[in-house]
Amino acid sequence: MTKELTCICCPMGCPLKAEVDEKGNVLSVTGNTCIRGENYAKTELVAPVRIVTTTAKTKSGKPVPVKTKEAVPKSKIFDVVKEIKETSVDLPVKMGDVIVRNTADTGVDVVATRSAE
Ligand code: SF4
Repeated sequence: MTKELTCICCPMGCPLKAEVDEKGNVLSVTGNTCIRGENYAKTELVAPVRIVTTTAKTKSGKPVPVKTKEAVPKSKIFDVVKEIKETSVDLPVKMGDVIVRNTADTGVDVVATRSAE
């Protein structure tokens, strides 16, 4: 079976076609301009992951931008965002500080993407 998807690894947004067997194994990928597209299609069709970016509250009420340090399973995004929204961060915060450790038991930390006083 052929599955169609769009590569989201860069702004070019290459249209990809992946041949998938009855067990869900990706047999081939076409339409990609570079290897990242092939890797994206293989991951997206088997175990999709995303980097989560949002803001966390600080104790002063000022939001600080945060993101997961690595991509997390797509199925865990809701839990990750919920955990970040329930967190109240002490100031000051430096870019790269860990805001939530091992978010939603993914093994991935959430870090600040900007410093805040
Ligand atoms: S296949 Fe390569 S060039 Fe095309 S969108 Fe993905 S990363 Fe960009």
